[in-house]
Amino acid sequence: VCTHTYTLIYEGKSKRVYVKNRDELILEFKDEVTARDGALRSFIRGKGIINARVSAYFFSVLNKKGIDTHFLDYDGARKMAVKKLRMLPLEVIVRNYAYGSQLKRIPLLKPLQELNPPIVEFHYKDDSLHDPLIIVDDIINSGIATHEELNFIIKTSLRINDILREVFSEAKLKLIDFKIEFGRDRDNKLILADEISGDTFRVLDDNGKHLDKEVFRRTGDPKLLIDAYIRLCEKLGIKVDDIDFHG
Ligand code: 5GP
Repeated sequence: VCTHTYTLIYEGKSKRVYVKNRDELILEFKDEVTARDGALRSFIRGKGIINARVSAYFFSVLNKKGIDTHFLDYDGARKMAVKKLRMLPLEVIVRNYAYGSQLKRIPLLKPLQELNPPIVEFHYKDDSLHDPLIIVDDIINSGIATHEELNFIIKTSLRINDILREVFSEAKLKLIDFKIEFGRDRDNKLILADEISGDTFRVLDDNGKHLDKEVFRRTGDPKLLIDAYIRLCEKLGIKVDDIDFHG
């Protein structure tokens, strides 16, 4: 997917978005990683390709399992074609074990305490407010989504959790939590969008080691992060030997 003919409409911390046509966009995954609201920032060669590949892999699995996702096509490198949607300003977080911001909010929970049933949490997507937790009535009253739509989002997110857990458990990895986002298509149907990668989920290997962005949040070391991402791909059976990490 060649982007120089496309118009850049948005650049975020980890992706660029181009217009392909009336109904499709191109997402380009950047070789950049940020954490702590952008205070930690690094360039990591190969990271964009890995995250595009991991996302394409999970969207394909989910599509096959009957989840509607925005994913259309992957170029084998850092770009994917996706359906153009109107994004909801929400981060939907599913948690299987207590961790991260949840522990900060409720220190009574033990780290990695199992949450059974899993929790679905909504955050209002706004960097300047640090993506605060938002309650269901705020979402409905502000017109972000209806009650019925939220029920659909909760049900779909738990189904996605089941599918991801199964994939990870086959790879001997434990899914702690993840963040997803939804958008609306022309017919107002809610579709899974954004990305699913080591930047958006937390997973632990047999030894309790993170194969996700937590490595960078903790150490600020881009080299350690790319090593973790390569191991993540190896565990999932995703090819990385064609990626140039040094060039
Ligand atoms: P927490 O709320 O505990 O910080 O994060 C829960 C899960 O959602 C983690 O897997 C984390 O990676 C993901 N997550 C939460 N907020 C964001 C965000 O703003 N960006 C990204 N990429 N992932 C997030």
